[in-house]
Amino acid sequence: RNIKKLTKSQTLQLEPLIRCEESLLVPSSGIVDAVSFMRSLEGQILDSGNMISYQSLVSKINFDGKIFTLRVLDNNNQETTIKCRNLINSTGLYATDIANKIEGLKKEFVPKTFFAKGNYFSINKDLGIRHLVYPIPNEFSLGIHLTPELDYSVKFGPDFEWIEDRENYKVDINKKKLFINEIMKFLPDLDSDSLNPSYAGIRPIVEKKEKSKRDFIIQTDSIHSIPNLINLYGIESPGLTSSLAIALHVRDLLE
Ligand SMILES: Cc1cc2nc3c(=O)[nH]c(=O)nc-3n(C[C@H](O)[C@H](O)[C@H](O)COP(=O)(O)OP(=O)(O)OC[C@H]3O[C@@H](n4cnc5c(N)ncnc54)[C@H](O)[C@@H]3O)c2cc1C
Repeated sequence: RNIKKLTKSQTLQLEPLIRCEESLLVPSSGIVDAVSFMRSLEGQILDSGNMISYQSLVSKINFDGKIFTLRVLDNNNQETTIKCRNLINSTGLYATDIANKIEGLKKEFVPKTFFAKGNYFSINKDLGIRHLVYPIPNEFSLGIHLTPELDYSVKFGPDFEWIEDRENYKVDINKKKLFINEIMKFLPDLDSDSLNPSYAGIRPIVEKKEKSKRDFIIQTDSIHSIPNLINLYGIESPGLTSSLAIALHVRDLLE
């Protein structure tokens, strides 16, 4: 909203460390504290009398035409059975695996999920940068961009790498050179010694297409014919920003 095109000198006035020929200023952009957001949702769920079951692995799902029966294993491999009328499969990286465990769900409606790792490097000090800075996006992702954190330290990333192992969240230190090259294109005065590996995330991707042509898949019985089952596939970025909107949409689909 209210996007403005800025010249090189206007950009320099706003962000003296950032180099570019021209830029687009998006005044409505911002950041959220994802952990606090999750805690606040958790509080609201519990306050309204609902339950969240942590450390619980859904291992099998039967469907008798009306009721879903879930077999759930705890940390000690103890099994609990849960019966429900509505089932929302929002298991992120595992959505395809879970869908394949639902009795009666035809495999032709279950997309393959590919995995793409994104690493972050960070500088643990305030460089005075107050805006998110995005270079021109590349084919599969937004490119290595700069995000000021709530304490004004800065993180850079994520990069984009197809992977097979969706349990490996280790940041590869050998990527530092690549990060320096990318960051220096828009932040030439980068002090590379202060750049440290930070963390990594893994995206579930259902179509190996360029970023602007990919979308979330929110699949209902109009596709797979199982009533009251909603499967969410490929909920990659901006899945966090869109989470409340997705939740309202899913609720409306079930009503
Ligand atoms: C590198 C990176 C950067 C990102 N940046 C942004 C961003 O800037 N803005 C933004 O909006 N989004 C961003 N995202 C995307 C955002 O993080 C995701 O879209 C969002 O977390 C997806 O939420 P989800 O609930 O669908 O899946 P998840 O958060 O993955 O949750 C799935 C849940 O299902 C559980 N589960 C899985 N299998 C089972 C099972 N068998 N039994 C029981 N439970 C199970 C898991 O334990 C987990 O709790 C980014 C993602 C990555 C990887």
